[in-house]
Amino acid sequence: MSSRDSFDICVIGAGAIGLAVVYELAKKYKNQDVSIVILEQESSFGQHVSSRNSEVIHAGIYYPAGSLKAELCVTGKELLYSHCVQFGVAHQKIGKLIVAKNSEAEALIQLKKNAIANGVLDLQLLNRAELQKLEPHIDADTALHSPSTGIIDSHSYMQSLLHLAENLGVQFSPYSRVEKIDTHANAFVVHCLLDENRNPEQYQFNCQQLINAAGLEAQSIAQSVSSVPKNTIPNLHYCKGDYFDYRGRNPFSHLIYPMPEANTAGLGIHATMDMSSQLKFGPDTEYVDKIDFEIDGNKARVFAKSISSYFPTIEAGDLKPAYSGIRPKLSGLGEAAADFEIQEESAHGVPGLIQLFGMESPGLTASLAIARHIADRVEL
Ligand SMILES: Cc1cc2nc3c(=O)[nH]c(=O)nc-3n(C[C@H](O)[C@H](O)[C@H](O)COP(=O)(O)OP(=O)(O)OC[C@H]3O[C@@H](n4cnc5c(N)ncnc54)[C@H](O)[C@@H]3O)c2cc1C
Repeated sequence: MSSRDSFDICVIGAGAIGLAVVYELAKKYKNQDVSIVILEQESSFGQHVSSRNSEVIHAGIYYPAGSLKAELCVTGKELLYSHCVQFGVAHQKIGKLIVAKNSEAEALIQLKKNAIANGVLDLQLLNRAELQKLEPHIDADTALHSPSTGIIDSHSYMQSLLHLAENLGVQFSPYSRVEKIDTHANAFVVHCLLDENRNPEQYQFNCQQLINAAGLEAQSIAQSVSSVPKNTIPNLHYCKGDYFDYRGRNPFSHLIYPMPEANTAGLGIHATMDMSSQLKFGPDTEYVDKIDFEIDGNKARVFAKSISSYFPTIEAGDLKPAYSGIRPKLSGLGEAAADFEIQEESAHGVPGLIQLFGMESPGLTASLAIARHIADRVEL
């Protein structure tokens, strides 16, 4: 970190969202002598939620029409594909199939209607024979084909954002843990602990605009801002999702999703793959009290049972624990899904502060649209 004692804009958290935000702000203030810093507690970017997910570019099918999730996912998807093409980020628009039994056919049609209301107009309903042609190993009566769903190398994506932002003058500061923020007149005083594990040092600086993009720690950062009314900070619920790798050859050429169950916290244990075509299944949903990425290998049986509803030949022995991620949810177990919460002055009364809460899926897909949304609201 340089020894400057003030920046115009400070973003906390170098995950996909914080990085997209600094890139968008750097474009907005290009050649205007505006200083922007992004603080990250870890040694590098993207070590938390942004590297523990399905890496799916979502189409925007499920979210309620008019929600931020729907709007920012649909816009973000287009921005993300263009970004990947323009800057050579590895991705594949492989498409996705939401597969259903006859008893779920009506719900599948409702899902298509919801997608249309969100502006997703390219979905196609398939019958069993059409589905069999695309995916012979799947057992389902009907399916919804989403051609605009894809996969992305999220690490390369974040790397591209950081590179572009740094070229526009953004300062990236790893090993910088924000501990507390005071508000004085029109400025924030950001207190950081630098290089916590090797050579700890306290550092503080002023900034005019502060964006809290700290993912799973957004609430604790908010708690530390002296002027934020505590009752404006939404509750945080950790919801863990485990993934299991498939040991055999990947038999699929699309992402395969079951029908989402009503009021569950995820989209169902689905089949997704990375850029090297490694097939994996997940994530499940488990509300937990603390951050712990351990996976119980015995869950393979539960996974296999769930997956066998659409991929009948799967056995528990085909699955091996891969990795897990934790969703920063705003809704608790059994509660209706909550929207992204992007709080500006109107929500908490603090000028110059923008806070992002509940940035779960589709936050990766939506990241560039979220960044534009925020850049439109930052005024120096
Ligand atoms: C299981 C799972 C599956 C998902 N699947 C998908 C998917 O397929 N498609 C999709 O679009 N989205 C998906 N998501 C959602 C997506 O991963 C997130 O929305 C996105 O990565 C959130 O990015 P972020 O920048 O907000 O958070 P993070 O990546 O967690 O970044 C926050 C950063 O803030 C830093 N930080 C925290 N506290 C401090 C502090 N005090 N000082 C300094 N730095 C700090 C952290 O170290 C971290 O790097 C999934 C999420 C999960 C958990």
